[in-house]
Amino acid sequence: MSRVLIIGAGGVGQVVAHKCAQVPEVFSEIWLASRTEEKCRRIAAQISRPIHTAQVDADDVSQTVALIRRVQPALVINVALPYQDLAIMDACLETGVHYLDTANYEPPDEAKFEYKWQWAYQERFREKGLMALLGSGFDPGVTNVFTAWLKKHEFDTIEELDIIDANAGNHGQPFATNFNPEINIREVTARGRYWENGAWQETDPLTVKQSFDFPEGIGPMNIYLMYHEELESIVRHFPEIKRARFWMTFSENYLNHLKVLQNVGMTRIDPVMYNGQEVIPLQFLKAVLPDPSSLGPLTKGRTCIGCLARGTKDGKPKIAYVYNICDHEACFREVQSQAISYTTGVPAMIGAKMMLTGKWTGEGVFNMEQLDPDPFMDALNQHGLPWVLVTPEHGMT
Ligand code: NDP
Repeated sequence: MSRVLIIGAGGVGQVVAHKCAQVPEVFSEIWLASRTEEKCRRIAAQISRPIHTAQVDADDVSQTVALIRRVQPALVINVALPYQDLAIMDACLETGVHYLDTANYEPPDEAKFEYKWQWAYQERFREKGLMALLGSGFDPGVTNVFTAWLKKHEFDTIEELDIIDANAGNHGQPFATNFNPEINIREVTARGRYWENGAWQETDPLTVKQSFDFPEGIGPMNIYLMYHEELESIVRHFPEIKRARFWMTFSENYLNHLKVLQNVGMTRIDPVMYNGQEVIPLQFLKAVLPDPSSLGPLTKGRTCIGCLARGTKDGKPKIAYVYNICDHEACFREVQSQAISYTTGVPAMIGAKMMLTGKWTGEGVFNMEQLDPDPFMDALNQHGLPWVLVTPEHGMT
């Protein structure tokens, strides 16, 4: 029985609050805090169990420290934005509380995500006897656990890993992102990067594509090579992997809009002067795009995210694919959110459950693949993200 403090009341925070509320035997008391407390209250009103709310600007360590001292949680679940990661980790260290997040730190003025800033907290968390669990969403998160599970049960050695993320859903809007538009567009417009033979290879953004035939009736879709943060930790923790890539589907419509927005400068993250005031074009764009949480009732279709690995087992070559399919409308019926927030929020709750029930313990900073995948895989089946393993004949080119 544990008190938990969730920071961030966006699309993902909403799902985390709903899912924690479904597991009262672990999450005995739930606090939801964010920059705008009204958003916390709106989420609390959807949930039949009491959810305590609070206001906090998590960029300010002293505010988070004061809130943690007031609430006295066993764990802080950070589902605010990547910019707040280090400040919230500092607050956890100061108050002696465990930490979990779903996305790695990004400096606001540079579209660059790397684990180096958070890995640098290893000694400080270890010395305090605290655990920080990094990237407990779907990708990163479940994809790291899928990889660890494949290695544990299906392979002696993994040589090639392809993480493939499809959103085969449709929200009917001309252009919208499924999670925070600023974070999403920064990620998608970055240069592509993949791991091959011990080195990072770079590509121009979204220039490498192929078709992938998704299972269970979703069918073939174009997938685009991108850099994604779990690649960095996975190749570090599984140095045997010779090639690791990340792929995502995008519709032609999304790509055309993105190209125009880029060409006219609306995805820039450096300040421009407008009417005597500094404006960051991407932040302004976020303000005029649909709020991802408003897409919940509109989105139909399914997501399919999985890991396709090629390697050897008992001296023989083998291919295995483990994936989850998630239905947008079913998610909305359950927690009033679409599947992108759902597939992130459920693993955040499960990661918290692993820590609070002592299934996952440790001192220091951990990526998901460093911990035993089995209890997490069981919990995915139990809490709404069932997975499937298949052993196809063909891998990726
Ligand atoms: P939203 O933009 O919907 O929500 C972010 C929330 O954080 C908002 O409530 C916002 O408050 C709050 N917030 C922002 N700054 C602060 C601050 N300084 N102090 C306190 N609260 C703050 O984002 P999402 O819910 O879509 O995403 C949440 C996180 O999940 C992000 O880090 C994202 O990168 C990550 N993510 C991870 C995925 C994965 O699979 N691993 C997939 C999708 C998302 P306000 O409303 O006042 O601005």
